[in-house]
Amino acid sequence: METLPYYVFFMLILSEVIAKGGITLINEKRLVSVFMELVQVDSESGHEGQMVETLKNKLTGLGMEVFIDDAAKQTGTETGNLIARMNGNVNGPTLMFCAHMDTIKPGCGIEPVLENGIIRTAGNTVLGADDKAGIAAVIEAVTVLQEAKLLHGNLELVFTICEETGLSGAKNLDFSRLVADMGFVLDCDGPPGTIVNKGPSQDKIKAEVLGKAAHAGINPEDGINAIQVASRAVVNMQLGRIDEETTVNIGLISGGVAINVVPDRVTLQGETRSLQDEKRVVQTRLICDTLKETARESGARLILDVNTIYPAMHVPEDASVVKLAVRAAEQIGLDPIIRGTGGGSDTHIFNDHGIPCVNLGIAMQKVHTIDEFIRVEDLSAVTSYVLAIIHEAAREA
Ligand code: ZN
Ligand code: CA
Repeated sequence: METLPYYVFFMLILSEVIAKGGITLINEKRLVSVFMELVQVDSESGHEGQMVETLKNKLTGLGMEVFIDDAAKQTGTETGNLIARMNGNVNGPTLMFCAHMDTIKPGCGIEPVLENGIIRTAGNTVLGADDKAGIAAVIEAVTVLQEAKLLHGNLELVFTICEETGLSGAKNLDFSRLVADMGFVLDCDGPPGTIVNKGPSQDKIKAEVLGKAAHAGINPEDGINAIQVASRAVVNMQLGRIDEETTVNIGLISGGVAINVVPDRVTLQGETRSLQDEKRVVQTRLICDTLKETARESGARLILDVNTIYPAMHVPEDASVVKLAVRAAEQIGLDPIIRGTGGGSDTHIFNDHGIPCVNLGIAMQKVHTIDEFIRVEDLSAVTSYVLAIIHEAAREA
């Protein structure tokens, strides 16, 4: 009989431990305390400086190599993206884990409150589980790897700035620093086990309708009412859900100066999204054509500004990254749910740069509201899931 090397036995024992949710390995108290600490570091988009310092210390303390890229030069913000690296003790794919450091507003002076296994805020801010739950889970997973001397391949961590303001951190990330074979972004709603492999592309549309000012009572006939022109255009647009994979919205309108002035300027802002890039292009063109036509008919001028914010993503279900995520979920008794989303994330940018990447559910709830919360149980499960992914990849190596 062939003797099995010692590490095979070790891995078998580890499988058992991880199969039970990694409970024995993960220090839930430590996990919660790191999460609480991180959400109390203010980091609204563009102001991630203090957060970078905090994370740099933690990761360096864990023996990781930490690098801050030059993204701040392009984004004009406090700091760049944080990239950390840890060499593996087995071969196998280099895995990347990503989460964003920034939060939306109101995100300053967050007071987390832990009660009955649920963490929420004291009241006037978001919690920032979006996306610090992801960061805390990754930090605890790496801590466990080191502490329990588990087998793992090379790891790369990417903590981005300015995700909430158009993915501009990821867009300006120094990709030359990354060698990852595949990646996992921890920035999605849904229970642990949620694997998002499809997402839409998005265009932002800004239109300025320029009419002509005139006194409303004395010579209105000399004016061109920009509010009326813009309104006509909007009435003629098809908004909302266009089909299963395509949506259109006008979300902002502003203009006018006083009730006795025929308004000469209105700004409209909206977006189009689709899982198919071509469909998004068609919808954006329809919006622009409607605006142009209406402006022309009314003698108004139009300034259009259209930007594609991110491309669509679609990682096939038989891609290694999806299969690994599915196996790891099953390994710890989570139900793998592969699905698409209508939202955008850094995941799009990684895929666009050739790193196959999925977005994982981290059970953050009511995000982007002051009622945001997360269950400790779920935060632990996400951490177990990260460990299970690393473990599965190492086991196959
Ligand atoms: Zn997020
Ligand atoms: Ca968000």
